[in-house]
Amino acid sequence: MKVTRVPVDPGPAAWNELLEPAPVREPLGEHRTADWVIVGAGFAGLSAARRLSELNPGQSIVVLEASQVASGPAGRNSGFMIDVPHDLSSSDYGGNTDKDRREIRLNRAGIEYALNLCKQFGASDETMSLSGKVNGAITDRGVKHNDAYAQHLDNLKEPYERLDARAMHELTGTHCYVDGLFTPGTAMIQPALYIRTLAAGIESNRVSLHENSPVIELKRQGSSWQAHTQKGSVIAPKVILCVNGHLQSFGFLKRQLMHVFTYASMTRQMRPDEIASLGGQSTWGITPADPLGTTVRRVSGTGGDRLLIRNRATFDPSMQVNDARIKDVAPTHDKSFRDRFPMLPQLDMEFRWGGRLCLTRNNVSVFGEIEKGLFSACCQNGLGTVKGTISGKLAAELACEVSSDLLNDLLVSAEPTKLPPEPIASVGATTVLRWGEFRAGREL
Ligand SMILES: Cc1cc2nc3c(=O)[nH]c(=O)nc-3n(C[C@H](O)[C@H](O)[C@H](O)COP(=O)(O)OP(=O)(O)OC[C@H]3O[C@@H](n4cnc5c(N)ncnc54)[C@H](O)[C@@H]3O)c2cc1C
Repeated sequence: MKVTRVPVDPGPAAWNELLEPAPVREPLGEHRTADWVIVGAGFAGLSAARRLSELNPGQSIVVLEASQVASGPAGRNSGFMIDVPHDLSSSDYGGNTDKDRREIRLNRAGIEYALNLCKQFGASDETMSLSGKVNGAITDRGVKHNDAYAQHLDNLKEPYERLDARAMHELTGTHCYVDGLFTPGTAMIQPALYIRTLAAGIESNRVSLHENSPVIELKRQGSSWQAHTQKGSVIAPKVILCVNGHLQSFGFLKRQLMHVFTYASMTRQMRPDEIASLGGQSTWGITPADPLGTTVRRVSGTGGDRLLIRNRATFDPSMQVNDARIKDVAPTHDKSFRDRFPMLPQLDMEFRWGGRLCLTRNNVSVFGEIEKGLFSACCQNGLGTVKGTISGKLAAELACEVSSDLLNDLLVSAEPTKLPPEPIASVGATTVLRWGEFRAGREL
């Protein structure tokens, strides 16, 4: 199969820009064989590579990445590794109770695996911390979302704490939040630092990682697969595709995957007087009570003290947006920022960017052996930091015939439901998103 599209990522991956320049890895430049090929070096691909090397000491693994480590979606997200249900397509993040329990088990296993990898590879404290997160509400409607979510967590017997306006002010420094719902199990990562640490940690004389090596064709060679890049190829009996929505570019799941872009802006480093004007704690993360509201993060680490805003979502079946789109969403980001942080009138955005999500209508991933010897750990429904991690790990276990209850939990997922034909799909999805953003009001 010819690969129809390779990824294009709009704007800089800000988290990656905050770090020292990364070492450049050579593109694949030879025709070779290996025991395993992994396509994609995000959360799923790197977790799969690590798990394969744990399970198969001595075997060779080649990871092929279209761009550079931590410059794709893995280095341009908001860094929330969320354990509790967070169904972006629902009105209150909740879903069906049995499905939610399975999801919590899987998410927590993903977080645990990520924490272990950080420990093994000597990651700094800034890379990942189990700090929990807060669903912040600004309006009465937001508070109702938090009430509904609290009810859902009660049904699941999951712990949480409600924060009043004063507690929200003490945490964030802003007076805009009237209510918060704290859940303790979310881990926060500096995504680029996490991904870079993982990439450096897995490389060895058996595990090679090639950047700027988009797979442009994948075809059968007897009982093996051959992955072609522009300048080389690898033949291996088993391949794991970890390309999220680009699974469709490999010819799979046509009209079943929804390609959505979301957008973020990060401020320049705050000066000491600005840090004092803001107040609150030095690191925190707020997801919006309304799923179509605004995520906000305060960070303090490499690159100084900064704030991040993430909102807006657009349906883009072409999987590409241009830089003009980033300019289009900038005024919304600036308004969301100024409404929340009137005490920081001079603090401007240094980075603005967008990135791909892959969703399905019924909120399921695409996991399993999709053809003989070809495995998928794709479509993370917008929560790939954690779902990518666990699905990559479990795809490696599936390919090595290591069974577990967790693997069964993932294998019971239904097929993604079909989308209506174009242009109905685009018009429908865009209408739902725009209407949801309108209704989010000041939560946006
Ligand atoms: C602004 C923003 C905020 C977000 N916030 C969060 C958050 O807080 N929490 C959360 O869980 N998720 C968040 N996400 C989503 C998250 O980034 C993704 O779900 C996650 O990166 C998916 O992980 P993955 O490993 O499956 O895929 P990716 O991270 O997309 O990795 C796939 C890799 O495959 C590569 N690839 C694709 N095609 C090919 C090819 N032909 N050949 C070789 N390589 C190829 C790509 O370059 C890419 O590096 C956010 C996303 C954005 C854009």
